[in-house]
Amino acid sequence: MQAANPYIFKTKPYVPGKPIDEVRRELGLKSVIKLASNENPYPPSPKVLAAMARAAREVNRYPDGGCFILRRGLARKFNVDDDQLLFGNGSDEIICLAVRAFAAKGGEVIIAKPSFLVYEIASILSGARLHQVPLQSFRYDLQAMRAKVNGRTRIIFIGNPDNPAGTYITQRQAEDFLRSVPKNILVFFDEAYFEYVHADDYPDTLGLMKKYPNLMVARTFSKMYGLAGLRIGYGIARRDIIDILNRLREPFNVNSMAQAAAAAVLADEPYYRKIAQEIHAQRLYLYRSLKAMNIAFEESFTNFILVRAGADSSVIADALLNKGVIVRDMAVWGLKGYIRTSIGTPAENKRFIKTLGEIL
Ligand SMILES: *Cc1c(COP(=O)(O)O)cnc(C)c1O
Repeated sequence: MQAANPYIFKTKPYVPGKPIDEVRRELGLKSVIKLASNENPYPPSPKVLAAMARAAREVNRYPDGGCFILRRGLARKFNVDDDQLLFGNGSDEIICLAVRAFAAKGGEVIIAKPSFLVYEIASILSGARLHQVPLQSFRYDLQAMRAKVNGRTRIIFIGNPDNPAGTYITQRQAEDFLRSVPKNILVFFDEAYFEYVHADDYPDTLGLMKKYPNLMVARTFSKMYGLAGLRIGYGIARRDIIDILNRLREPFNVNSMAQAAAAAVLADEPYYRKIAQEIHAQRLYLYRSLKAMNIAFEESFTNFILVRAGADSSVIADALLNKGVIVRDMAVWGLKGYIRTSIGTPAENKRFIKTLGEIL
């Protein structure tokens, strides 16, 4: 066999939430709901579907490697320059590109623990050295993260809000932290749940970028905009950072259906605002129901909730699965006793609560 890069064996492959069809087949269930991957439970808007149908007729052509139309739309929306944007095959790719560009082979990366698994996997696979700083009461311990900074530090990842905790750091905390970190270290704010956040003191990172040239932001069309299956996300940073990442990416990393759908999403914001409101109302429904059942949870600023399910979360997650409700067992994240559930449609959330009640 070929000798592989030894870094590869230092990580475990990412284990995604089980697909609905697989569970249905394996368990012979009639109806299965998936609340395991923080997906939007609603389909794309009719306008977005129409844009995809038009794009489908041209998939014999390569996509626009520069994402011209989408780039222009987002640059306008966020009031940034065209060359401050970078598109990726999901924001996962933006994370991976940043690690490869700045931290590969011996650079150091600082992340929270537990945090989004892709930071960890991308770092290890690039041969970066990882520092994992435990959360305190499910919040970032920014002082402890700052204390890990040394001459080899290249990137600090801040999931804001992070997954799986669902909590966020404030404008004030972000600013204090940025002020304390040397400007040659990339501070990467992963804002995958940006569109769901309902908090006045959530950081204005694009504003902060004017003062802190080492700040980078990543966002995605996967979560609130419901295009997880198409894989499209983007990064925003100063143009010198974007220029470096742009050299590293593959020429056609974002497919044409994804570009067309994302551009159509931007032209159909009211549809998505309505969904965000619905998810928010459902989050409150889940809070009420969990409280009534005496089950502890973390207040979330995303479309998922970290739930303290009890002693053995693997058993509970399995029991839910057997009844056709797919959630995430957080034991893999080192959170024994916790499950993470996405906020689904009203019917799905009701079924989750009912099934959880039966099991407990
Ligand atoms: C889901 C998620 C992402 C990435 O999603 P993509 O589909 O790759 O855009 C990034 N960060 C966090 C914290 C997430 O939960």
